[in-house]
Amino acid sequence: MANIPKSVREVLETLTAAGHEAWCVGGCVRDTLLGRTPEDWDVTTSALPEETMSLFGRRALPTGMKHGTVTVRTDRGGVEVTTFRCDGAYHDHRRPDTVIFTRSLEEDLKRRDFTVNAMALGLDGTIRDLFGGREDLTAGILRCVGEPDKRFDEDALRILRALRFASVLGFRIEQETAAGIHKNRALLGDIAVERIQVELFKMLCGKKVLDVLRAYPDVVGVFWPEVLPMVGLDQRNHHHCYDVWEHTIHAAAAVPPEPELRCAALLHDIGKPATFTVDENGVGHFRGHAAVSEELADGMLRRLKCATEFRETVVRLVEWHDRDIPRTDKAVRRALGKLGERDLRRLISLKRADNLAQSPAYFSRQRELDKGETILDKLLAENACFSLKQLAINGKDLTDMGLFGPAVGRMLNALLDAVVDGELPNERDALLTALKHL
Ligand code: ATP
Ligand code: MG
Repeated sequence: MANIPKSVREVLETLTAAGHEAWCVGGCVRDTLLGRTPEDWDVTTSALPEETMSLFGRRALPTGMKHGTVTVRTDRGGVEVTTFRCDGAYHDHRRPDTVIFTRSLEEDLKRRDFTVNAMALGLDGTIRDLFGGREDLTAGILRCVGEPDKRFDEDALRILRALRFASVLGFRIEQETAAGIHKNRALLGDIAVERIQVELFKMLCGKKVLDVLRAYPDVVGVFWPEVLPMVGLDQRNHHHCYDVWEHTIHAAAAVPPEPELRCAALLHDIGKPATFTVDENGVGHFRGHAAVSEELADGMLRRLKCATEFRETVVRLVEWHDRDIPRTDKAVRRALGKLGERDLRRLISLKRADNLAQSPAYFSRQRELDKGETILDKLLAENACFSLKQLAINGKDLTDMGLFGPAVGRMLNALLDAVVDGELPNERDALLTALKHL
């Protein structure tokens, strides 16, 4: 096992040379055994935090002394070195009340969440695996260390971590662990929304998002109860071969794995239950659902304290998802002006996924999307004008002509509209002449 990076190796060597035990632990061991590149390397050691601090001197930063964590700076980024610990009692389903440092690696591995996350890797390549983590890794099974019920009750964030790892790694959640998740899900209500957000978005971007969302809508429903009425809601409409939730999760799995897009797909039809009607022929309709989805999505993302830009992007995609895709130069230029290239491309992805999650009889819609996309590519290649920035005249030209105040913006926007609509060429002289007439 020669894959420990040199910078991490040196940290282990320094600790070992001073007579301490030191191991790589957790996600980095899991990912190495899976042949994935670990995001970061965590080290666990018998050295007390103060001992680590003095061993590494100026390279050591006391980043989490209460929990025993010291960050050691290396030429390849920081390595978190944490003292072997066992957790004291838990009272709020979140954090142990106390942490107790120990000189035993076994104790430290026992407190970890899942068997595949509870392995340690030594300098000589030895793997310490007390709970069958390697076997579970090979079989693709996510299993709690110890009794699931107790582990989720201690720290409810583990519920979402389980869903996240299952989705990202493509693992199956072992039966008792799954039962513990369902049983304890309400405890997620005690977890800070910022932490829920991080796990949720990672889960949404995983390769098995479809299976996870299908099996655990009740977990998502703890912080987003709006999703619950989608489950099993028969659309009673020939456009659809799935109920609203199945449609939603197929759409979510079919967009590229970007948090904004996955989130927009998850929320695009969130307004359907509230707008559902059945006509005299027994056909289901969801009139005005996009506007309701937009409003609900906004509230849901605010509740999770998502960043403003993120929320606005998702909400705009939800708002636009049900409009016809622009398929003329003029319509694409207008859409570009409103959304910009990045979000117009995202909208096309979302609409593709939305369509692919409907009855196959309507897959021909993909061709309309192809057409919109071809026009978009063409306009961008031509450097077509769709924003004020690109207009061949600017505010100064107008003030030079004696205009001032809000009239400047009004005129510029009127000229931009004319250019976008193809009524005027984006040429300085033509625009200045048109201005004189306005
Ligand atoms: P990644 O870094 O790829 O997201 P990871 O497994 O490294 O995944 P971290 O959050 O970095 O996850 O945590 C490092 C290790 O700490 C985990 O592998 C696990 O052993 C342990 N751990 C983290 N969070 C918990 C928790 N809530 N309960 C128990 N153990 C945990
Ligand atoms: Mg990690």
